[in-house]
Amino acid sequence: FASLERDDPEIARVLLDELDRQRDGLQLIASENFTSPAVLAALGSTLNNKYAEGYPGRRYYRGCEQADRAEELAVERARELFGAEHANVQPHSGASANLAAYAALAEPGDVVLAMELSHGGHLTHGSRVNFSGKWFHPIGYRVAADTEEIDYDEVRDLALAHRPKLIICGSTAYPRLIDFRRFREIADEAGAYLMVDAAHFIGLVAGRAIPSPVPHADVVTCTTHKILRGPRGGMILCRADLAQRVDKAVFPFSQAGPMMHAVAGKAVALREAALPGFQGYARQVVKNAQALTAGLVAEGMRPVAGGTDTHLVLADLRELGVTGCDAEARCAEAQILLNRYALPYDPERATVGSGIRIGTPGVTTQGMREGEMRTIAELIGAAVRARPDSVSGAEALHELAAQARGLARGFPAYERQEVFA
Ligand code: PLP
Repeated sequence: FASLERDDPEIARVLLDELDRQRDGLQLIASENFTSPAVLAALGSTLNNKYAEGYPGRRYYRGCEQADRAEELAVERARELFGAEHANVQPHSGASANLAAYAALAEPGDVVLAMELSHGGHLTHGSRVNFSGKWFHPIGYRVAADTEEIDYDEVRDLALAHRPKLIICGSTAYPRLIDFRRFREIADEAGAYLMVDAAHFIGLVAGRAIPSPVPHADVVTCTTHKILRGPRGGMILCRADLAQRVDKAVFPFSQAGPMMHAVAGKAVALREAALPGFQGYARQVVKNAQALTAGLVAEGMRPVAGGTDTHLVLADLRELGVTGCDAEARCAEAQILLNRYALPYDPERATVGSGIRIGTPGVTTQGMREGEMRTIAELIGAAVRARPDSVSGAEALHELAAQARGLARGFPAYERQEVFA
């Protein structure tokens, strides 16, 4: 870091300020986390410099001995941790992993059945502005209006009516467990492949806090930077008979040179996730989300689907008469970072939303537990109710920001010397 401060003080300042930003607020964005200093060290390493197109032992460049070792360790650790027959650790991101999975299992024009975007599906699950909606024929399933849980009967009806090539489950904002066995049965009945997009929850699977999709899915795609606490990136797990198709769909079909520093970082994170402490972490993430939910209910917010089994809560704010957009802005003023969210069957525009999505992976990494979750729920409740256009509201948000900052600083994710050696 000393060399960066000397050579580029402007960017050094940005990095220091970002560290302060992360330490000075409550980071409750459900897709974020604090990766370990060991992962950050791998990311800042000279493996960044290496071109290693291909796979271990079959590279298109010389000098890949260390790249091979890093990738073999990452693949072996992923296979072991998840009990998967094959792992590809090269996808640059979750979206890249999904592109490769589509390419491995389907052809342009094929029907793909996935959760509707407005009910929690991801951009890559058939959005018109994404490759998945432009090149494939998406059919969306929804959650039931009364329970707000996946309506498996509707999924089955749609699968039998449209005969998709690929069925996708896994979402960005679904707080309940997904019945992978049921999806498998539906896929078998309809003659479809089953892809589980475990981007959000693969870390809970790694920590044995929720059931694994691996025994049921043809292909599992995921990110490595959310609960799994690795570098930004993606990964694909699959059965041995699909290994070659998946590998070819990553390279050479959709990517060229892998980011070997990120692959090394993934190996580090996968080792950390296999340590016994990670199971305690994953279980605490869920307990914290449940404690947070109880606190939010006490603040007058309604949890979508009646609660959570995972790392996130989707809170309906309509009882409070505040939109998701306003709540997000007020919370940000109070140093509480979370997302606005459009709820299933939301009458508001998607950019406004009637809800907020709140996740516990980051604050749990910081060491917070149920007691802190109750405090966070109170802070969120007070921030959402504060009217920033009144003097008292602005003062209240200012005071809440001091409290949120104080709480966050009491549980620092990093010491400066750990990340800027
Ligand atoms: N799939 C799901 C379900 C996600 O939630 C996300 C990101 O949040 C992705 C895929 C895409 O991951 P990335 O942002 O790494 O491309």
